[in-house]
Amino acid sequence: MTTRDENHVICPHCGAEHGDAWEWCTSEMPFDTTCDECGKVFEAWVVYDVSYCAHAKAPAGRDGSSSMRGDDL
Ligand SMILES: [Zn+2]
Repeated sequence: MTTRDENHVICPHCGAEHGDAWEWCTSEMPFDTTCDECGKVFEAWVVYDVSYCAHAKAPAGRDGSSSMRGDDL
């Protein structure tokens, strides 16, 4: 069973929520940790949802219009 939560590491044994996960659960490789609630050992790791974004820059000027025109032809 794998638990997953955006803000807590949830013990798979008892369901206890361990806060401040971003401070201590920073490894993407599972590591042993002990539940504060039930004392059992479980593995925890972090999954980063990576997204790559892009958007077009606003045109700096109207330079492009001169090359687009066919007036000189
Ligand atoms: Zn527990």
